[in-house]
Amino acid sequence: MTANRRRKHRVRARMAKTGESYTAAQRHLLTAEEAHMSTYELRHAGVTDIGNVRTVNQDHLLAEGDLVAVADGMGGHRAGEVASRVAVETLREAFAADPTAAGLAEAVRSANTAVWERAAAEPDLQGMGTTIAAVALVTEEGEKRLVVANVGDSRAYLLQEGGLGRLSFDHSLVADLVRAGEISEGEARTHPRRNILTRALGVGPEIDPYVALAEPARGDRLLLCSDGLFNELEEHEITAVLVAEADPADAATRLVHEAKEHGGNDNITAVVLDIA
Ligand code: MN
Repeated sequence: MTANRRRKHRVRARMAKTGESYTAAQRHLLTAEEAHMSTYELRHAGVTDIGNVRTVNQDHLLAEGDLVAVADGMGGHRAGEVASRVAVETLREAFAADPTAAGLAEAVRSANTAVWERAAAEPDLQGMGTTIAAVALVTEEGEKRLVVANVGDSRAYLLQEGGLGRLSFDHSLVADLVRAGEISEGEARTHPRRNILTRALGVGPEIDPYVALAEPARGDRLLLCSDGLFNELEEHEITAVLVAEADPADAATRLVHEAKEHGGNDNITAVVLDIA
């Protein structure tokens, strides 16, 4: 059922119950809806760490207002660090200009263009690219929605009633192999070609991001992270930390700490977002 039909259905139900006119019933419900919407509160915290092995941190994060994002750059010297920074900065500015679901998808495309053009302009940065995973709280047809957009293998997870589910879609060789049933999730985490992306931001003039909508609920907790987290920790270990640590900052800090304890072979980034 569309949002419009759901709303009309609620108006008629209220008319039947109270005897009000359609207009009066509609006005009451709109007021109640606004009151409900305005009470959503987002609390977020992010931690990024160079890890135990790398000499540069090429991950960047954003946790600001209704938008959170993680980007994991790639490219020689400092190119990967530039790619993920340019992507996150462009995403933030573009989404601020159009804070809708379509606006987030467009912001990812703008980020792609910005990284692509920067790489073309500076020989040292040629071939750089980045992943991006972003989640925003938006209003679609009068209802609050979470919109998820990603390119590459940085992930968005949703913890709901103690269970961890993925909101993002990995664009990577190992993810294709897992989906084809050729290797297991466990094998993907240690696969020699686990760094091969099938889609990345900034390596071509156009990008087709994965985009999905989810319904928010009070008590939901989201995690955005780079592969440096989920290649070191199994999903049940990630879940245990998210369930145990009530404060988003404590949860993000402990996730990064545990990934380092398990090897820390890559840069590690975790952003935890609570909906209250
Ligand atoms: Mn990485």
